[in-house]
Amino acid sequence: MNTRVLPPTPQAIHEAALALQSGELVGIPTETVYGLGANALDEAAVRKIFAAKGRPADNPLIVHVARLEDAAPLCEISDTARALAARFCPGPLTIILPRRPIVPDVVTAGLDTVAVRVPSHPVAQALLHECGLPIAAPSANTSGKPSPTTALHVYHDLNGKLPIILDGGECQVGLESTVISLSGDLPTVLRPGGVTPEMLLEVLPEVRVADSVLRPLQAGEKALSPGMMYKHYAPGGVLTMVKGTQEKVQHVCRRLYSAAIADGQTACILAFEEHLAAYSGMEVLSIGRMAEPETVSHRLFAVLRQLDEQGTGRMFSEVLPAEGLGLAIMNRLSRAAGFRTIDADQEEEALSCPSRESSSRS
Ligand code: AMP
Ligand code: MG
Repeated sequence: MNTRVLPPTPQAIHEAALALQSGELVGIPTETVYGLGANALDEAAVRKIFAAKGRPADNPLIVHVARLEDAAPLCEISDTARALAARFCPGPLTIILPRRPIVPDVVTAGLDTVAVRVPSHPVAQALLHECGLPIAAPSANTSGKPSPTTALHVYHDLNGKLPIILDGGECQVGLESTVISLSGDLPTVLRPGGVTPEMLLEVLPEVRVADSVLRPLQAGEKALSPGMMYKHYAPGGVLTMVKGTQEKVQHVCRRLYSAAIADGQTACILAFEEHLAAYSGMEVLSIGRMAEPETVSHRLFAVLRQLDEQGTGRMFSEVLPAEGLGLAIMNRLSRAAGFRTIDADQEEEALSCPSRESSSRS
């Protein structure tokens, strides 16, 4: 199949709507990441999404609608959902609600709930209005790769597997939506995103954050959100996060980088814009401004993709506190790193005290 990347003219949006109506897939820009969309009510079309991405069938999809009320035939919309929608929709928030029978099992992976989102991106909104269908769409990447934040990323992963990618520019948020479940006793964030727990607390009296957000699942532990089971967002090489006081982090990053180079590896440091000067003479990529986490979420996946394409062997990343938008950023970075973390403060202490270092290595 010939894949066309089209600027989002009314004609292109019309063609994309026709493609969705006839059971084809479309690459769709949203404010979070690019989505790979299909008519959510067409089981055969939805199956094409799983095939194109190589996505495991037990990982359910998010259904996109132009307004939350458009999801009424698909799920039971509670007052809490309406209150959330009044504040955050359209926007980067996905709400898990009890499903109705009209939703095909393939969309929900057989769960009795369905995930619903109202995207704010004008092209996504225009397409939803033009096609008049609920659109099931996961991120438009090959399963396991960083989510796409440009039309070119989508083309790179899925060329030949869909007829149209609408090019709506770089995604503003750059990370997938916040997923909140309203199906249990307490509203629970299953995946952090652009709508932070702090923001949710402006509307809800209480919010739980699933504790698996910043740690790997234990053996036998069931994922509340099936997508959290899989290794995600990962570049091909080995990424390590370095935490601790700023000066020590920079010292340890420089030392690990030099050791990797001496070992014949290609290496790169992922640093905040404010700290780039600390790594002069080294291969370093900016992951945005530490003081403005939205610049980090905006570019993180593009940086991970670039490193993947370059085939960089060893990567060492500075980290953010896991609060506000930092929670979502650290959730994605931790998964990309397979949770590999070095505590720079302890490393430095071990180095200045050789006997402890040797005992810790034994
Ligand atoms: P993606 O569309 O690739 O951003 O992934 C959608 C995320 O939402 C995945 O982590 C899914 O596991 C999660 N999700 C979708 N539907 C449900 C549901 N009914 N219950 C819990 N998690 C869901
Ligand atoms: Mg995804």
